[in-house]
Amino acid sequence: MNDLIKKVARPEIVNLTPYKARGGVVDGAIVLDANENPWAPPGAEGKWNRYPAQQPAALRARLAALYGIKEEQLLMMRGADEGIDVLYRATCRAGKDAVLITPPTFGLYRVAAQVQGADLIEVALDNKFQIRAQEIISAVQQSPVKLIFLCSPNNPTGNLIARQDVLEIARQCPDQLLVVDEAYVEFSNTPGLANDLEEVPNLVILRTLSKAYGLAGARVGAVLANAPVIELLRKVLPPYPLPAPVIAAVLKALVPVNMAILNDRIERIKAERERIRKALAESEWVEKIWPSAANFLLVKCRPDPQILLRLKARAIHVRDFQALGPGMVRISIGSVDENNALLEAFGVISKTAPLLRAATICRATAETQISAQVRLDITDPVQIDTGIGFYDHMLEQIARHGAFSLILNAKGDLRIDEHHTVEDCAIVLGQAIRQALGDRAGIGRFGFVLPMDEAQARIAIDLSGRQALRFDVCIDPAGAGGLGGQMVRHVFETLSQSLGAAIHIEAEGENTHHVIEAIFKGFGRALRPALARNGDQIPSSKGVL
Ligand SMILES: *Cc1c(COP(=O)(O)O)cnc(C)c1O
Repeated sequence: MNDLIKKVARPEIVNLTPYKARGGVVDGAIVLDANENPWAPPGAEGKWNRYPAQQPAALRARLAALYGIKEEQLLMMRGADEGIDVLYRATCRAGKDAVLITPPTFGLYRVAAQVQGADLIEVALDNKFQIRAQEIISAVQQSPVKLIFLCSPNNPTGNLIARQDVLEIARQCPDQLLVVDEAYVEFSNTPGLANDLEEVPNLVILRTLSKAYGLAGARVGAVLANAPVIELLRKVLPPYPLPAPVIAAVLKALVPVNMAILNDRIERIKAERERIRKALAESEWVEKIWPSAANFLLVKCRPDPQILLRLKARAIHVRDFQALGPGMVRISIGSVDENNALLEAFGVISKTAPLLRAATICRATAETQISAQVRLDITDPVQIDTGIGFYDHMLEQIARHGAFSLILNAKGDLRIDEHHTVEDCAIVLGQAIRQALGDRAGIGRFGFVLPMDEAQARIAIDLSGRQALRFDVCIDPAGAGGLGGQMVRHVFETLSQSLGAAIHIEAEGENTHHVIEAIFKGFGRALRPALARNGDQIPSSKGVL
């Protein structure tokens, strides 16, 4: 056994033979070894009658890829919270061992120590909320410390801890596990410490899907550490920490084609965090706001009950941190509308921004996996990856010339041909625009476009809610750039159905590439005035579209 493990582990855990559970479905075998029921209940969406694996292979591969580490460096469990619990249980004997924390920090470190009966050694942050590395190192040398908890970005103060300080503590405290809780690291502009694991044997990192990936309700987090530490922790982890429906749901949520949308949301939260920070600084009720690398802000309000009453009257909940001083609150960054409601309560904007028209569609079949996000009232980002370069370029023309933001990622069966991918992207794009349009109130509805370049495309659109296509174009069946000529008509036929629009297209020209490009560009141009919103009337004498 490795020296570090001998020093940090509870001896009874080192010697423990872990409970042996089969877990996991064994393909092709008759499994009569776990007292399971042969039938899943009616309506079950998977083999819920079978115990799941302790560390399900597909999810393990996905999270190891997400965090850029080796699979043997990962242990998954019910949230980072359970990671804290298994760390305590594997290392701390009641009344004998201690844990070092740096308050103000995440409250669960203290509670978990109390549950385990471990002593707490506290080395408070300095007045800028930075850790005192030298004090931490000397405190560890004087006490039977097993675990050092650092939180970066720290909850509730929002600041990052310098990597150099973490590495220095790890080096000076080689007989302790140095746990860095990176629950919020995706909102910072740093990659976190996962890359340092190879070099630092006693480094342990906590990560979670709860915050950045919107999966708090699924309860999935992970410990990242070197293999000997992972093996130790695995001994105290329950036999089946992750329920089968959760495993399936998380794999579905984190399919690679969703990542562009998820990463875009992280960027939006970061942008909102800065917007709110600037705006709140103008409020008469705010005394101080700390910079944050997380999805929340620590704010010191003036000691005036008025602001709390205003928040209460609007049913806006913020987290009370009176323990850090009068008027201290922690405010999570929400959606634009939620944030505007908060700003209104703080008296810094009078009216909320107009509702943004947006939709996200994910579609998975045996042939394609596609996710798309459309935002009609902003123009960036436009980011498209269908695996067919020319088609990416064409869809980009629609969004750029249509003046809307589009993120679309597809992974299709291109080894067969482009047909399914091209068609399904058109379905999803049409559905996303349709959903974002909602009741179509205020839109221009009609769009037209006139000749362009040496190739001419004349396109007329009516966002009527009803499907119709007239396609009067001769395109060489060979097409261009891996997009077959017949597929062009098929794209617009599909779009007219999924979007609910009448589309009229006429075009001619010498060069097939130019003709196709003129059609996609022209379609975007014609969409622009049709999508554009002006007022809130439904543009129909019938009053509905
Ligand atoms: C929210 C939070 C966690 C808990 O993460 P889960 O994966 O939801 O259990 C852990 N650490 C910190 C610092 C947090 O703020």
